[in-house]
Order: sequence, then C-alpha cells, then structure tokens
Amino acid sequence: MLPEARERAVLLTDVHTVVHLDLTSTEDFGVEATISFRCTQPGASSFLELNGGRDVTMNGEPAPYADGRIALTDLAEINEVRITARMPYVHDGDGMTETIDPADGERYVCAHTSMDITQKVIPCFDQPDIKSTFALSVTAPSHWTVLANGALEDRSSGERGDTWRFTTTPPFSSYLFTLVGGPWVSVTWDEPYAPAPGGTLPFGWHARASQERELRRDADELKRITSTCFQHYTSIFEPEYPYADFQQVFAPGLNWGAMEFPGCVVYRDEALKQGTPTELEREWVASTIAHEMAHMWFGDLVTMKWWEDSWLNESFADFMGYEVSGVAAGYTDVWTSAAITRKTTGYRADRRRSTHPIAEDTDKIVDVDTAFANFDMITYAKGNAALAQLGHWLGEEDFLAGVNKHLTTHAFGNADLADFLDSLDSESEHDVRAWAEAWLRSTGFDTLVVTRDGDVPVLTREGSRPHRLTVSAYDDSMQLVGSRDVQLGDEPVRLEEFAGRIVVPNSGDETFAVIRPDEQSWSAITAGLSSVEPQLTRAVLWWTAVDLTESRVIGVDELIALADQHLRPETHPLVFEGVMRNLQTITRRYASPEEASGHLAVIADIAREATDGGNPALAPGASRVFARLTADRQRLVAWLGQDDVDPSVRWAAVQRLAELGDDSHIDPEAERDKSVSGHHAALTARALVPTEAAKAEAWARLMSGNLSSHEFDAVGDGFWGWEQAELVHPYLARYVTDGLDLAKRSGQAMADSIGDAFPRLPLTEDVRRELRTVVAAALEGGDVPTVLARAWNDALDDLDRTL
Ligand SMILES: [Zn+2]
Repeated sequence: MLPEARERAVLLTDVHTVVHLDLTSTEDFGVEATISFRCTQPGASSFLELNGGRDVTMNGEPAPYADGRIALTDLAEINEVRITARMPYVHDGDGMTETIDPADGERYVCAHTSMDITQKVIPCFDQPDIKSTFALSVTAPSHWTVLANGALEDRSSGERGDTWRFTTTPPFSSYLFTLVGGPWVSVTWDEPYAPAPGGTLPFGWHARASQERELRRDADELKRITSTCFQHYTSIFEPEYPYADFQQVFAPGLNWGAMEFPGCVVYRDEALKQGTPTELEREWVASTIAHEMAHMWFGDLVTMKWWEDSWLNESFADFMGYEVSGVAAGYTDVWTSAAITRKTTGYRADRRRSTHPIAEDTDKIVDVDTAFANFDMITYAKGNAALAQLGHWLGEEDFLAGVNKHLTTHAFGNADLADFLDSLDSESEHDVRAWAEAWLRSTGFDTLVVTRDGDVPVLTREGSRPHRLTVSAYDDSMQLVGSRDVQLGDEPVRLEEFAGRIVVPNSGDETFAVIRPDEQSWSAITAGLSSVEPQLTRAVLWWTAVDLTESRVIGVDELIALADQHLRPETHPLVFEGVMRNLQTITRRYASPEEASGHLAVIADIAREATDGGNPALAPGASRVFARLTADRQRLVAWLGQDDVDPSVRWAAVQRLAELGDDSHIDPEAERDKSVSGHHAALTARALVPTEAAKAEAWARLMSGNLSSHEFDAVGDGFWGWEQAELVHPYLARYVTDGLDLAKRSGQAMADSIGDAFPRLPLTEDVRRELRTVVAAALEGGDVPTVLARAWNDALDDLDRTL
C-alpha cells in the first residue's frame, strides 16, 4: 500500500457522493458530483482522482486539475466540493463502456469499473479503504432503462430524456460503483425477505433487447438459482443483506466473467447462450451467480483494506460459489467440474515461476498493474481449494461461525487477512494461524505418494502442509470397497485395512495436492478408469493422468489412448466435457504437427460417438468438439443445411470448414446470425482461413488497435489454426514485436488479451525453441508492460515444460 494512500485513508472520513450523469450525448458524458467528507486534520491537503476529464470545474471555477488529480487544499473539518466535467466513453471495457449492438443498432452504456477504473467515470477517492455512500441520478434516452447500485426511487421525463433517481446506497468502496443504461429487456420479481420493508426486495434479470428470446427462455432457471442462493445466504450469514435491491445484468463489453457491484451484478453477455448450453456452461452460470452473490457480504459489505487481500474476496467467493450452487441451487456435481477444469488451472499456475503465495506479501504488490496480474488462478482456483480444505479441516460449523464473526465485526468497513484469521481463531480450537502460514503464505503444492510395505499401502506427503482427505480403496476391477478419513502431516500413514487393495488418495478431492499412485494401483486404474465411482473420483483420476502427461511421466499418445478406451463409455457430462477440454489443451501445447492430426482424429471420433450416441446431456458439448475438430467436411456441410442445428455447433462447423480451406459458409452464417456472439464467431472463422492473404488480413485487423478486447480475443482465437504451423510461422516473431507495440498503446485489458493470444498450436520442438528465444529476448528488453510481461513469462514456463 502506498504511503500516500495510507495517509489519505486516515485523513478522510464520512464520505458522501451525490452524482448526476448525463448520457444523452454520444460524444461524451457529463458528470456533476458533490462530494462531502470530514478531514481529521483541518488545514491538510488531499486530492480526488478523475481520469480523462475535460472542462473540469470545482465549486464553479476551473479546477486545480492535473495528472488525473484534483487538488484539495486547506481542508476544513467538514468539506463539500462540487465537481463538473465532461468525460469520454471507452470501448475497451475499462470505464464508461459504450457498445452498439450489431443485431439492432441499439446503444448501451455500462460503467465497467474495478480497481483504479471508477476514476474514469466519476471523481472519487479511488482506494478500497475509503468508503462512500452514493446518491446517483442519470439522464439518458427515454426508451432506456437505467440500473445502478441503489434501487430506483423515481423516474421523470424531461426535454433531453428521462432522469432516473436512485436511493442513497450504504457506504462501499469506489471500485464497486456502477450503472448500466440501455433498452434492456427485464424479468423482475419481488423476492421474499423478512427484514425488508414490506417483506420483499425488488429482484431482476436484464439483457440486451436483442437477447430477449434467450432471457425469456432461461428466466425461470436464472430466477430459481438466484432465489435459492439468496435464501441460503440470508439464512447462513448473520448480517442482513445490505442493499436495497438485487439486479443482475448480461452487460456488453465486460472484460471479466462477472463483477460483484453492490445491488447490481453484471455478467458477460455471452453467458446468456444463443443455443443449448453445455453442462460446464450451465454449471459456470450457477456457480458464478452464487459467487457474485457471496461478494455482497464478502467483498462489498466487508472489503479488503488494500489490493494484496483481493485474493481473500475472490477465493472466498469462488469457494462459496461452488458450494452454494450445489447445496442451495441443486448443481450437486459442481465440485466434479471444479476437479477437472477450475482446479487444474490452479495447479498449472502454481507450477510457474510467477506463482505467489495465495496471500501475497504487502510489499510485493507494488502497483495496481501487479495487483491486476495477481487476479490469476492462484487467487481463484488455488485459493478456492485452500479455503475448501480449511472448511474441511475446521469443520463446517466452526468455519461458518468464524466467517460470521468476521462479517459482523467489520460490516461496512475494511479488513485484512490478520483480521480474518482473528475471526476464525476466535471460533475454533484449531491453530488457524499455523494453518494459514503453511497454506496461504507458501507457494507450490504437495504430492501425495502411495507406496507399499508388503501388501499394505502407505501414504506419504512430499511437501509441507497438513491435509485432511478421504482415501478410497477399490478391488482389482475398480469396484469401491471402502473409504476412510485421513489426517496427513509429516508422518506417513499406513492403511492396514486396505492391504492388497487399489488405493486412491484425495478421492473426494478435499485437498489441493497431486497424487502419485503406486504401480499396482495405477495399472488397475488405467485398466478400469471408466468404471470408477463416484464420478468425482473419476475426475480426480483423469486429472492425475493429465498431470502425469504434463509432467512427462507418460506420453501424450498414452493419454490419448486412455481417452480412446475410457472416455467413449463415459456418461457423466462434466467428466466428459472436462476431459475433452484437457485433451485439446495438451494436444495444442505438447504435440508436434505430425502427431497432432492423429490425436485430433481420435478426439473427434470420441466426440462423434457421443454426439450420435443419444445421451442428451453429452450432445451439446460433444457436438461442438466434433464440429470444431473433424476432417469430415461432408457431415459439416450437411449440418449447415439443417435448420435445427444449435447456433454454436453451426459456428463451430463454419470455423472448421474455414480452417480446412472452405470459407464459403462464413458470409451466409454471419448474415443469418447478426448477434454479438455471431459477430465474434465470424471474426474467428475469417482468421482461420488457411491462405497467406487471409492471414495477412486477419493480422492487420488484430494489431490495428481498432478492435474491442472481445473482438481481439475472437480474431486471436482463430489465427493459430490447428494444422497451420507452417503457414503462421512468420507470425510467431511478429506476434512478439507487433503485440508489444500494441500493448504499449493500450490498457490492461488489451495487454491481457494479447497475452491470451499467445501462439498455442502444435509446433515442432525446434519452432517452439525459436518462439521461446524471441519471447525471452523481448522480456529481457525490459519495456514490456506489467500485465503482458506476466502473461509472457507464464507462456515461457508453459513452453519450457514441453521442451
Ligand atoms: Zn469475484
């Protein structure tokens, strides 16, 4: 934390913001803010942040405004400043984001704020530990709906549009301020909540007008998830729900998956699918709703003091998101999807040099860019897994009591890790601080090794952490014969009762550690993997096979052969889809171009069998994989001739045909589907076309600086086609030089997208080394922006694992 920020947090208290925004001009928007606050040392100076303002005035005079700051001098004990300014809209998702819907030409304006971004929308004390109340009014076109943190108080018509006035919010941090305006379609209801005046709160789901069909189709389920999670949280958390309503919006242009604005959560609009979502996508929506709702208490009501503790917000919300979407909303297999998708990204992140303790040292978070780069899978996936292990280790009751102590003690304020541990410690007999030292202040993960003493399996921990986990025993044909709870620390644990049996440690996936089964167990597992029950254990074992491949213990061909044998009989959609994703990731990163086509053929054929097999739970995921990987052009063309094929499958087919050299289906499909997702899918398809001219055109578009970050992602997704190693070879070096140029001209979000567009496709080992050399040289040059440098260092680590 910067000394300047620390000083300001002590200096300023009791902050209230009254703000009016005028969105009626398409050129820029108007801000009129009155900010009142107390100063603990009258006579002192401070400042407000405002980033990008024009014609900035303070109390009616030109403001002392420079370098994004409005100077406040000679403060009294009680102060009030009135600021006006004109502010620019943005198109990269960092700030007041304006988007035009390609489907109907409608305009939407969303304040996508976060760390250090709210100052691009309103003048504010932009740090998490200075909370303000907000009283917002917005003037906008009269056919719009405007939603914001507060509840709608009244709406009036004027000459230039309508004005929406919202109730004054309780105090929260500036990074949580938002409003979204546009011709939304809405599904609203009164949610029962006894403490509210009248016994209910206004709830709603909102989407772009062009997504009306999808919103109405999914409304019942979205409402059901929302209500069940809300009733669950309000029954387990002691503090009352702090806000006057709860609105959820599928908002265009958001760079994140979702964002936990108090009373007004936003989601990426792509989350509202045109076609039938796959099981993993359905689970994502449910767990994300529960994740964002957990933040209303954990993150919004009680907020970190400074960005180094962002992990605590995110890890906690991620853990609750999975847990509560399961116990409250009925997505009971959600931890299976975590085991084979979310958690695997945590292990991968933890193996890289950029790994960091879940709870990072304060002095390592030198600036906001570093904090931003730490919103990674250590924070989300590993942090989630560590808190799940903590809950398992403490017992659910004590864990929840500690959480409630924390929420009650720090309500409407700020707290750090030490405060959280104090709260847990006060409600538990366990040594929570020692646990935190071992789990949160360290990097890397332990390995749980099974050896045999004669017939008796012996479980040993390589590493440093205490674990509580389940060990399951199977007979030789992998039928479950027993399970036991094990506390594992420095001493090996002899599993006498499982003598002669196949054993699987962490079979309930309670802890964050990889497993290394003994030889006898592994050969039985590989022979009978598809019959292992329950499916959560099967997911853990599939991940183990993936992990052994990435650790070069087994070959990619062995993993593909395992899939050929055991994924074909798989009936659980989350296991099936999760393993399919991992197979593609591994083939992209580890296979040479010659090997890749064979692997793709096997993966595509497994997908074909599942598509044709009649299991309706498998088909949505499997048909997309098939369409995207098959070499069977006839089948793809036939699909495009049918009317009842899912839009995402159609686009996957168009993209695969384009990748194979037939670009004739792109224009007709783009004509047929004018949605935002159609626009992005078409960009991907055009970038896949395997001609020099098409690649040159796609490249010019990619590096033009004219694309939104979502458009950039779409072109980047298509550029490195599966079998195009030779064709794209000249662009490997250009990715580094042109990408660096673009990153220097752009913000964090684009730097992130450039990092995501790293060339990941089957390459020969020589070419991978070449790529490694140019990336490393650029990094040594030292002028790579922080967010991109982090992505490239990670990409280098991933490359090194393949070499
Ligand atoms: Zn979150």
